Amino acid sequence: MPEVETLDADVVVLGTGPAGMAALSAAADEGASVVVLEAMDHIGGNAVWSTGYLAFVDSAMQREQGLVDDEETFVADARAMVDEARDRFGVEWDEDLVRLFARESAETYRLLTERGVRFSRFIPRPRQHTVDRMAAVEDSWMLGRAFAPDTTRPGVTVRYGTVADRLVVTDGRVTGVRAHRRDDDAPLEVTARRGVVLATGGYQSNPELRRRFQPEVVARAPYLGIDTCRGDGHLLGQAVGGDLVNMTFVPPLVIVSSSVVEDAIAVNTAGERFHDEAGPYEERVDRLHEQPGRRAWYVVDDEVFREKATLISQMPEPPVSAGSLPELAAAVGVPAAALEGTVARWNDFLAGTTDDRDPDFGRVVLPPGRRTCTRAPFTAVPMVEGINFCCGGFRVTTDLQVLDVFGDAIPGLFAAGDCVGGLNPVSDLGGIHISGGFTLGRVAGRAAARDVAGGGGHGSVLHAGLPSMLDTRIALVRLDPEPTS
Ligand SMILES: Cc1cc2nc3c(=O)[nH]c(=O)nc-3n(C[C@H](O)[C@H](O)[C@H](O)COP(=O)(O)OP(=O)(O)OC[C@H]3O[C@@H](n4cnc5c(N)ncnc54)[C@H](O)[C@@H]3O)c2cc1C
Repeated sequence: MPEVETLDADVVVLGTGPAGMAALSAAADEGASVVVLEAMDHIGGNAVWSTGYLAFVDSAMQREQGLVDDEETFVADARAMVDEARDRFGVEWDEDLVRLFARESAETYRLLTERGVRFSRFIPRPRQHTVDRMAAVEDSWMLGRAFAPDTTRPGVTVRYGTVADRLVVTDGRVTGVRAHRRDDDAPLEVTARRGVVLATGGYQSNPELRRRFQPEVVARAPYLGIDTCRGDGHLLGQAVGGDLVNMTFVPPLVIVSSSVVEDAIAVNTAGERFHDEAGPYEERVDRLHEQPGRRAWYVVDDEVFREKATLISQMPEPPVSAGSLPELAAAVGVPAAALEGTVARWNDFLAGTTDDRDPDFGRVVLPPGRRTCTRAPFTAVPMVEGINFCCGGFRVTTDLQVLDVFGDAIPGLFAAGDCVGGLNPVSDLGGIHISGGFTLGRVAGRAAARDVAGGGGHGSVLHAGLPSMLDTRIALVRLDPEPTS
């Protein structure tokens, strides 16, 4: 048996996505010693690979632009999203958690900008966010750089390439974590004097876990993102009694970065646009379903293709490029005149200066600088239904303590980000997962450092008494085309 390396700290954080980064930072700011375990070789989780849209309520950026926003407006927008989702998924939203996010997210904006994260503009989503509140980060890697842990700081230890395997429970309290190094399987055991924060993201890249909660056909939809989001935190917490909600809620979307969508139009086999390309995620999927053979393509010109080559190369199906629009039409099998006409009409609209709303489908998310689709060669990227994130996770208190099926807080166990189930059902608003991860992660890290669980807990217990019902690269995770069992 290899020797087990041991570490100890006040707080142990699992994962370094937005939730883990914020938990680490907040716990350390409280004076706690912190050990962080991260399966990948770098910080940032899915956030640094993401589009980088973050929603904040009543942020300084909104105030600077004269935009009025508040908790009640956000809750009303969130409630509308939840009501829409109810027909498709089992939804249990936690209004207290949504309100906590609304109150704390402006502070998240302040902290991010203080750490050098820059936001370029608001992305309008009037049908979801009734006030402009979703801001686009200039470069998603800024999020990781802003929270790169200062390992020279006493009491902060970060272990990359280390996978948490089990929680250790002593006398009913979570007191540590068993883990292993990915390169040589060397075991590690970390004692947590005050608490463990589950911040391991979602379960998108775990085909088997998705099959437990989704119909087979839906569970086979591809996912584009880091392949360490295997629901480890969900399983770790479940094994010690944590109550999971919203696990069926893995919203389908048309795979492509919203950054590409901003600059693209989508055409069907008739060579015509058929929807608001930047509209609500569910609606995009519905419109794609209505197309013959569910076939359609995002069309971009050479300037956009070069600028977003990495994002486009990550699409599930390869792009098709041609020297002219008629050649592109022939290559993908759509009528040339129709495609040329569609692109010309879009360009005419963008060339106008007065109308900010596309007259055909009401699209308001326009290419930056209203740049037109003009420069050959042109590229068509097949639209493919898949997923980016999931919404199921643990029930928690407003101190982010994990609750068991009876509504009792599990001493020493906290969760944040995509490990939490009560906030993410409102994620179709846009920009909730990353901002929510940073915001709730900060609360969780602070609460764990203050040992709210250790002294018997003073976190408010929500839903008490309600019935209950594992390569550091971005990868396209496909499930087997045929069921294996
Ligand atoms: C292509 C794409 C675009 C997106 N765009 C946006 C967007 O614009 N806005 C938005 O709000 N959301 C977006 N999302 C979703 C968002 O990135 C995630 O929901 C968010 O990053 C979740 O934060 P998190 O901290 O909970 O987990 P993650 O960011 O997923 O990080 C989890 C971390 O935990 C680590 N980990 C996992 N298991 C273990 C283990 N056993 N031991 C140790 N470490 C472990 C992982 O390696 C990872 O680093 C996007 C997602 C994708 C895939």
